[in-house]
Amino acid sequence: MKELLIIGSGPAGISAALYAVRGGAPVTIVAKDGGALAKADLIQNYYGFEYGVSAKDLFETGVKQAEHLGAKIVRTEIFGIEFTEEGFRAKTADGAIDAGAVIIACGTARNVPPVRNIEKFEGAGVSYCAICDAFFYRGKKIAVVGDGAYARSEFAELKNVVSDVTILTNGGRALEGLPCNTKKIASFEGDETLKEVVYTDGTRETFDGVFIACGSAGAFELAKKVGLESANGKLTVNEKRATNVPGIFAAGDCIPGLQQIAKAVYDGMIAGTEALKYLKAQK
Ligand SMILES: Cc1cc2nc3c(=O)[nH]c(=O)nc-3n(C[C@H](O)[C@H](O)[C@H](O)COP(=O)(O)OP(=O)(O)OC[C@H]3O[C@@H](n4cnc5c(N)ncnc54)[C@H](O)[C@@H]3O)c2cc1C
Repeated sequence: MKELLIIGSGPAGISAALYAVRGGAPVTIVAKDGGALAKADLIQNYYGFEYGVSAKDLFETGVKQAEHLGAKIVRTEIFGIEFTEEGFRAKTADGAIDAGAVIIACGTARNVPPVRNIEKFEGAGVSYCAICDAFFYRGKKIAVVGDGAYARSEFAELKNVVSDVTILTNGGRALEGLPCNTKKIASFEGDETLKEVVYTDGTRETFDGVFIACGSAGAFELAKKVGLESANGKLTVNEKRATNVPGIFAAGDCIPGLQQIAKAVYDGMIAGTEALKYLKAQK
């Protein structure tokens, strides 16, 4: 059976892994950190813990449980997903991982910086996907907004097609070796399309487009790269937790519904069993 790649080791990703791995699928879980549970403290509303459970313990025990059953855990960041003849390839900070099916379980969906007019210009100068939209900006002047490894990766993607690319760190530290402007951004301005970036010190700079790559690629950014449908910042799935792209499923906080552990675990169970069925049918 081909590999199942699960992005995220929170309750949704781990629950999906438990069902898939016990059903016989080779499972790789890729996660960069503890997700929402790393920010939480004592969990008192999850089944089975008389005095509650520390969110950190719940997270760590879940990861160990999945590993114990045979899932492979890789601690790295995923920058994007692309199609291959065999299925999918995830681009990571350390290379690439191939899979026959993918479950996106990477928590709340979007990393949008608080810049005035950002939503107004989405699709009209503001993009969330270098590989999808770089082509439209050939010969133009563009910027990547972000200050981490994901921004660096989007910059490299854009540089293959566009020569004039600047990183706008929006107050963050400059990325070594890349052309950076560290001023904080106040707003995007233009008419029908984005024309200028206005900084908080009152200065302005002309750009034809900006690519948002703040923090890590969230579900929304990953979705854009393979054409997944989304609404209100959440990935669109059916009752099988299947997205509109065959072989890609989603679970947990990145899809609609309550942002709670019990619901993420339930989503993960469905996504894991459905991804397993999908892989079995592929053999
Ligand atoms: C402060 C706080 C308190 C909370 N308290 C409660 C509570 O008391 N009870 C309750 O039921 N719920 C609570 N929640 C909500 C609960 O934590 C979430 O609903 C749940 O963790 C969602 O699970 P998930 O697996 O969908 O996402 P997450 O737990 O957020 O996991 C996301 C995973 O995806 C990984 N990831 C994301 N992007 C990438 C990428 N590009 N590459 C690689 N990996 C990536 C992350 O590293 C992480 O492993 C709380 C949340 C917070 C923030």
